[in-house]
Amino acid sequence: MYRFAPSPTGDMHIGNLRVALFNYICARQKNTDFILRIEDTDKARNIEGKEEEIKEILKIFGICWQHYYIQSQNLKFHRQMALKLVSEKKAFACFCTEEELEIKKEFAKKQGKAYRYDGTCENLSHIELLECEKPFVIRIKKPNHTLKFTDLIKGQLGFTPENIDSFVIMRKDKTPTYNFACAVDDMLENVTCIIRGEDHVSNTPKQEHIRASLNYNYAVTYAHLPIILNEENTKMSKREAHSSVKWLLEQGILPSAIANYLIILGNKTPHEIFTLEEAIEWFDIAKVSKAPARFDFKKLLQINREHIKKMPDEELNKLLNCDKNLAKLAKFYTQEASTLKELKEKIQAIFSAKDYKEFTTECVILKNILQKMQSFENYEDFKNELLNQSALKGKKFFMPLRIILTGNTHGPELNELYPYIKQFIYELARI
Ligand code: GLU
Repeated sequence: MYRFAPSPTGDMHIGNLRVALFNYICARQKNTDFILRIEDTDKARNIEGKEEEIKEILKIFGICWQHYYIQSQNLKFHRQMALKLVSEKKAFACFCTEEELEIKKEFAKKQGKAYRYDGTCENLSHIELLECEKPFVIRIKKPNHTLKFTDLIKGQLGFTPENIDSFVIMRKDKTPTYNFACAVDDMLENVTCIIRGEDHVSNTPKQEHIRASLNYNYAVTYAHLPIILNEENTKMSKREAHSSVKWLLEQGILPSAIANYLIILGNKTPHEIFTLEEAIEWFDIAKVSKAPARFDFKKLLQINREHIKKMPDEELNKLLNCDKNLAKLAKFYTQEASTLKELKEKIQAIFSAKDYKEFTTECVILKNILQKMQSFENYEDFKNELLNQSALKGKKFFMPLRIILTGNTHGPELNELYPYIKQFIYELARI
């Protein structure tokens, strides 16, 4: 069982999508179920509507799930399990106030030490928590031995009890913290492998400790994915446009290309260009590099061009939103345009009224001829006939012709373009 557990707290970024893709691929490879769990325990940061957006984005990428739920729906289980741990003396109510803790944290800081909970409330006499009036949190007692686990990417990792600490599992408002809700839910759902970003590495021993305390002994495997760096080699921020999946899609980068790129990012793959279905055949999570991956937008654009070229014409035509059959012309233009947005601009420039620049007279002459001229299969014949009839030469011939055919003063070789444009010559001569 695999799961993707996004928080509905912001736009889906490429790091999230990479995690979703890898979990989905591994679930498909293992022929097991995939859960989409919306982790909404941090109420203050939740943004309304984000879960629908996450679902929409996953669907666009062909990622489907067998189970879906919102984490807060499991609140009664989180509370039950927390009380069970308290009754077994594996967890305890902590009445320390924020102010008291703050003073201790400051003190530790001054001594140059990392703050650790000092056990003040650990041995208080038994308290009937359900009737207790004073606000409290519940902390789980730190483990008494080093916790080790194997990460498919990072190898063996170990955390001492000091590193894990007696941490909070239930907040004052009787809602679970992320670590507790996540550990309990993964346990209830029998999740067997957890793939997530490496920012969660230090949470893993805490979650292992929670499950062990609840006597859950099934082994969970982990793969923590290295962070994604931007082109300046610093951690890619959620605020950078390139990191927003929505933004990339709006630019007209195909979902198949984004998925392809995120799979090759910091990874050894047998091919460079592939579909998600193909990747399911050979993807190996253990081959993902330990080192941070560097996001290369140009590489993504190159992959996008390849996906556009490989796309069935009919499908591409639909995406171009045009009543003519322009797929082949669009594919030709990938030599100078990388996204659907750029391709649409190129095509629009061809089929809209032109700016003749300083070539107005020549353009008028050529258009008059073109309106009456027979059609030609090949460019040489077309050009020669037009040269003959117009008596124009050199730049005064080629520039206006290029403007009439493309709407631009520079661009692809006209002889290469001609096969894709020849059926529209009369139309272009009348614009
Ligand atoms: N909700 C967490 C996040 O969005 C996911 C944690 C996990 O996968 O365990 O980062």
